[in-house]
Amino acid sequence: MLRWLRPTAQVATVYDIDLLALRERGIRGVILDLDNTIVPWGARQPGPELPGWIAAAKDAGFRLCIVSNNMGSRVTGLATMLGLPVVTGALKPRRKALRRALSQMGTTPDATALVGDQLLTDILGGNRLGLHTILVRPQSRREFPLTRLTRVVERALLRGRRHR
Ligand SMILES: [Mg+2]
Repeated sequence: MLRWLRPTAQVATVYDIDLLALRERGIRGVILDLDNTIVPWGARQPGPELPGWIAAAKDAGFRLCIVSNNMGSRVTGLATMLGLPVVTGALKPRRKALRRALSQMGTTPDATALVGDQLLTDILGGNRLGLHTILVRPQSRREFPLTRLTRVVERALLRGRRHR
């Protein structure tokens, strides 16, 4: 079970991802979690750095797709502002929405990375589908109340890993 929760890579923020290294690994598509991964939780506007990063990723030849467990006009509005396709109400760690993102991007699991801030939804779902999973630190301390509970589990898992 634990190996399913182990991200392929860990970075501080989405901006720390080495896009060229991903390309060299054969990655062509990147699934992006929304809240606390590319925007602070519950944000209605993207931060100033995000549009430039998205443009750079597209210029480097990556297909991008947002996959969020959240839904509603805030989520679709952000995707429109960023010019990205989105799958909402994704129910990660279930794989169905992730597969939809792959068909949207036209990529296979071995050519797709997933960036997310949660082990039990993003990383678990991505690993189950065989994606290259990248864990980022949450952008804000605000989050869905249930998430605060799973963070306790997450911290214990990450601590356990360091001691191994
Ligand atoms: Mg998130």
